[in-house]
Amino acid sequence: MTKLMVFIDGTWLYSNLRHLAKEFNQPGFYIDYGVLPKVLKRELEQREGFDGLDLVRTFLFGSYPVNYDIVDEDRAKRRRDFFSMLREEYHYEVDVFPIDYQRRRILHDDRSMDDSFAPKEKCVDIALASSMMYNAAIPGGYDIAIAVIGDKDYFPVLQKVRQLGKRVAIASIRQSCAKMYTDRNDDKGLKDYDVIWLRDIMDDIALKHQEWQVECSSPLHEGERGMVTTIRLREGQPFFCDDCRTRFSDQKEEHFEGYLSSDGEGVAGHEDEDGTVGKSCEGLIENLKQDRGFGFIKRENGFSYFFHMSNLTNVDWESIHSGVRAKFTVIKEPDGIRAGAADDVTLLRE
Ligand SMILES: [Zn+2]
Repeated sequence: MTKLMVFIDGTWLYSNLRHLAKEFNQPGFYIDYGVLPKVLKRELEQREGFDGLDLVRTFLFGSYPVNYDIVDEDRAKRRRDFFSMLREEYHYEVDVFPIDYQRRRILHDDRSMDDSFAPKEKCVDIALASSMMYNAAIPGGYDIAIAVIGDKDYFPVLQKVRQLGKRVAIASIRQSCAKMYTDRNDDKGLKDYDVIWLRDIMDDIALKHQEWQVECSSPLHEGERGMVTTIRLREGQPFFCDDCRTRFSDQKEEHFEGYLSSDGEGVAGHEDEDGTVGKSCEGLIENLKQDRGFGFIKRENGFSYFFHMSNLTNVDWESIHSGVRAKFTVIKEPDGIRAGAADDVTLLRE
């Protein structure tokens, strides 16, 4: 059977969705990443008369903010949850890299006008190219690669992959697709099929907004807890309503700045964006403020990490106690002044 792999430049796709949304006159247009690889496969099958391609794997490459202004915690968390969802629910291979925001706001419009800071994305294109090349070179990897891309930087890898005897399809967005990919002559020898325009498959890949009956699980919630949402939750992830999210955000800002660390210790450390940020660590819960919804986790090396009740996964706030062992993902390292920050906090049962 002919094997197919899909390689998605997530950063490019994310930042160019607005073109599709505009063409479609649907400001809230989002892609259903669960169906995207299948629709691309079907499109290629129908166009080229393949009798069933074997979709082996889908890769997505992207980046996530670290060391941002704590006010943007909710925004950053949604990004991390999105990548986790791709892994957990759709079994994507997700390769993501931290972008250091140097304590600034994540959105350009939220930063001051005279701030010339430009976030630097690292590794994303090289990671995509390496993965495409690697899987082309190992025996039994793939026969056809679909690259969901637009930047011209990828042309060398497309050439090399084809020189290895693999076939390449490009899926893209017209308004942000490098000219050489659409060249009918294909002078550079980059592709084996006409470009698949996402515009043409929009109806099939659009996220259909489903509604879910949920209950807000925040202890700070006021009024009726039951409500309807279009936000899709990961398994084990508690739901918090918009009001509570705003309260959390205020709380975090206050506590995170107020409590430089649990006890003034454990803040030594270094800002090493390539170190433990994004990785899983273990430690002991300490200095828990049960009634205020936050606490700290201390690793064996003495580093201390702030966490909030909204950073828990698969565990209730009530089950969190000081002295208990927890596993968590580092989202910020301590910097000598403030504690680090943790997300995806879960308890380790001994
Ligand atoms: Zn609530």
